[in-house]
Amino acid sequence: MRWDVVVLGAGSAGAAAAHALAGRGLSVLALERKPLDAAGARWCNAVPGWCFDASDVPRPTAPEARGGPPIHLVAGWGPERVRIAGQDVLEVDMRHLVARLQRLATEAGATLRGGVTVRGVVGDVVHTDAGAFRARWIVDASGLHGVERRRAVDRRDLCVASQQVRTLADPEAGRAWFARHGAAPGEILCFTGVAGGYAIVNVRLHGDDEVAILTGSLPGLGHPSGVTLMERFVADHPWIGPVRFGGARAIPVSAPKARLHEGRIAFLGDAAVQVFAAHGSGVGAQLVAARLLAETFAAGGTPADYSRAWWARYGPDLRASARFQLASRHLSTDALGRLMRAGVMAPDMVRGPLEQRPPRITPAALAAIGAGVARDPGALLGLARAGWTAISGR
Ligand SMILES: Cc1cc2nc3c(=O)[nH]c(=O)nc-3n(C[C@H](O)[C@H](O)[C@H](O)COP(=O)(O)OP(=O)(O)OC[C@H]3O[C@@H](n4cnc5c(N)ncnc54)[C@H](O)[C@@H]3O)c2cc1C
Repeated sequence: MRWDVVVLGAGSAGAAAAHALAGRGLSVLALERKPLDAAGARWCNAVPGWCFDASDVPRPTAPEARGGPPIHLVAGWGPERVRIAGQDVLEVDMRHLVARLQRLATEAGATLRGGVTVRGVVGDVVHTDAGAFRARWIVDASGLHGVERRRAVDRRDLCVASQQVRTLADPEAGRAWFARHGAAPGEILCFTGVAGGYAIVNVRLHGDDEVAILTGSLPGLGHPSGVTLMERFVADHPWIGPVRFGGARAIPVSAPKARLHEGRIAFLGDAAVQVFAAHGSGVGAQLVAARLLAETFAAGGTPADYSRAWWARYGPDLRASARFQLASRHLSTDALGRLMRAGVMAPDMVRGPLEQRPPRITPAALAAIGAGVARDPGALLGLARAGWTAISGR
């Protein structure tokens, strides 16, 4: 049998593609090297609501959805901060999302096979340890270290992140710690620039007995990795108890691949570096890309057509986010605090990027920035210097 599409990987990108393609009447086989219930991300990720609306996937509900804003963006370990509320961002338990996407794909008619490792693609044949499969088109959604290893990402552009949901060993002490940092239960404290400008330690209480912790940094630049940041943070806070679930991995935070295709192969998700690099978020981008890919194939288009369409519609925003990420590496916590005081990091400005959109430069935001810069004319210098260091260092 020759399939319309064979999808490599059944994590969030692969399962979303299988669902979107099968839902448009194409015959789809998805191959996953792990058991299907172990595929993809096994931690919690922040995903903007609009990305669900722009995909074929309904918004999640509990227990898959685990809350949203407000978030306190804190310069270093504080106290300087901005508090942003009302942004359309959901915290998603990826174990549930991947399972839902796989279920939707199967219901739409796709065939999903776990425990099958893809060894390579030659022409229209996908070679695996369970035999060969022929396909008109192939979607590589096998992640950063998947089938196409030769598309390596520079190690300086790898954010090593860790996310864990842990019990509270001492709930009262945990709540007191959040109160001391000016956050109510359920609000996110995101300590920014704690190991190089880009690094974060992001903490939130969930329910009465859980804390969710996310850490990330760029070890390729000589900083401690997100895994080390996690170990240190947990060791320093005895109110944090054992791990319930979570994981750690590298996220590519360079600009997306210039070509999302190679012959019959279309790249999707981390395999395509479809990541909003300013905060290393790949899930929203891959959900909307999966729909665009399916629409393109269903209309008789090719992987090259998908690549062009994606770059025309979504690519520039992700590329701009990668440029901001480069500048943010060189931003000191002092410079960040100054930008916050000057109003350049006003909630109106930051809400867009948190939702993985360009900043909305409203008249009110411009007026606030103008007033802040008039008070501290040097505040923008730190950002300009960071931008210049990023550009001249490349
Ligand atoms: C700790 C952490 C926190 C993060 N936080 C966020 C966040 O808040 N928001 C956000 O949007 N993103 C976040 N990300 C990034 C996000 O998790 C990834 O972008 C996303 O999971 C990538 O999905 P994917 O399907 O492209 O790749 P993967 O999840 O890597 O899935 C690829 C699948 O392909 C399979 N595979 C690989 N090779 C083969 C082969 N040879 N044969 C068959 N199958 C194969 C793998 O087993 C895997 O199941 C975070 C990442 C980490 C590590």
